[in-house]
Amino acid sequence: MARVAVIGGGLAGLAAAAALAARGFGVTVVESRRRLGGRASSFPDPASGQLVDACQHASMGCCTNLDHFFATVGVSGLLARQPKLNFVTPDRRKSVFKADPWPAPLHLGRALLGAHYLTPAEKVRVGLGFAALLRESPDADPPLKDWLLRHHQTERTIARFWGVVLVSALNETVDRLGLKYARKVFVDGFLRHRDGFVVHLPTVPLGRLYSDELRGWFARHGVEFREGVAVRDLVSTRSGISHLTMRDGTTITADWYVLAVPFERVLDLLPGELAADPYFAGVANLEPSPITSVHLWLDRPVTPLQHAVLVDCLGHWVFNRGEVAPGEFYLQVVISATRDLSALGNDEIGSRVAAELGRLFPEMARARVLRSKVVTERTATFSAVPGVDRWRPPQGSPVPNLAVAGDWTATGWPATMEGAVRSGYLAAEAILTRAGRPERVVRPELWEARSPGEP
Ligand SMILES: Cc1cc2nc3c(=O)[nH]c(=O)nc-3n(C[C@H](O)[C@H](O)[C@H](O)COP(=O)(O)OP(=O)(O)OC[C@H]3O[C@@H](n4cnc5c(N)ncnc54)[C@H](O)[C@@H]3O)c2cc1C
Repeated sequence: MARVAVIGGGLAGLAAAAALAARGFGVTVVESRRRLGGRASSFPDPASGQLVDACQHASMGCCTNLDHFFATVGVSGLLARQPKLNFVTPDRRKSVFKADPWPAPLHLGRALLGAHYLTPAEKVRVGLGFAALLRESPDADPPLKDWLLRHHQTERTIARFWGVVLVSALNETVDRLGLKYARKVFVDGFLRHRDGFVVHLPTVPLGRLYSDELRGWFARHGVEFREGVAVRDLVSTRSGISHLTMRDGTTITADWYVLAVPFERVLDLLPGELAADPYFAGVANLEPSPITSVHLWLDRPVTPLQHAVLVDCLGHWVFNRGEVAPGEFYLQVVISATRDLSALGNDEIGSRVAAELGRLFPEMARARVLRSKVVTERTATFSAVPGVDRWRPPQGSPVPNLAVAGDWTATGWPATMEGAVRSGYLAAEAILTRAGRPERVVRPELWEARSPGEP
């Protein structure tokens, strides 16, 4: 049986492992932490013992490979569809964004017309922007802000509409983004299929996704996990990677290798001559973008909303997880692209977010904060600046027995869970092709797979 060593147990590594194990490869996953899931995971909160997400993660209906991976390993039932999104402004007004029973792209027309935070003239501008987006080539990637200003948008429509969606979806500010992935968010998520925009949220802490069901599936497919063991080096000969050396001095030998670590770790693990190869070296040009999440445990519920998208606020999303322990009500506020907030420090960000929640939800004035925590992930995602794809390598590397995976590789997607799973499936495709068994592993897009209206 051909052996594969997968380095990194995030979604990219797990997806590559699942695809290859299902096709008869003997797979070992090496993960430096003592848990799976990488960035999309949880940590045990020392204060309560509760499993807390480093940051709430959301996916959308257009994430067909992520859906497929979760269904394969048996955890789809731990996520819930959110067919209605609540958009809330500082004056406490709310617009509910939901689809009408009309075919895409008309299904969201009435929801856009009902948005209380845009004037009628601004809604016309946004409509013109959508029409222009559809006319653009999917690969065009000029600076987004200039493009928006050239296509009927104003600072206000950018701040109150385009930015509200894009800063969260792409974890970058509009003035730094390129057009390509902004277009993709709107076209795939809002315009091409009725289900594309439907947000999927785990109903459990993310860490729970990687427990009994997933581990059971991998065990049945013969996958071995080595957790808490970091790879130090990939050792190469002229014919390819010969083995891995671990930080504890042991080695692992396989026929095939999948390197599925975050982009900022890649070059350190490679031998010098490979790190200098232009295929790998371009990774050094990817820039990280941070995300901050503010976690609050309160003594009472302060809003009936399960989630809210915040317009014109410091926070971008509020997730309300309800009563997580007797008498403890948990809210998480996510702020994306927090580069400009780094000088404030976590404590100040936490106080400002708590004050903002007080303005949005009056019940907050009566609530007591039992505990709070602010987490900033400095290298949360790569920044989707104009032309970023020239630094993202395809999964089949120049080394014959090495594939790479990770949300930063060339997937055609931004840095997301969907991008990570896609990269893992593409890495499996690269190995299958080189093993003389070419096969399509990546799933069809939503609009190719299902007819409109089908769940
Ligand atoms: C705060 C935050 C919020 C986010 N929100 C969302 C969201 O709402 N929706 C969404 O779709 N995406 C979101 N993302 C992005 C998403 O989490 C990532 O795109 C995805 O999880 C990346 O998966 P990956 O497998 O490519 O990388 P990772 O998850 O980083 O996995 C790489 C793994 O490699 C391991 N590793 C590193 N070095 C070694 C080594 N030497 N030896 C062995 N193992 C090693 C790491 O420990 C890690 O487990 C968010 C990310 C962050 C940080």
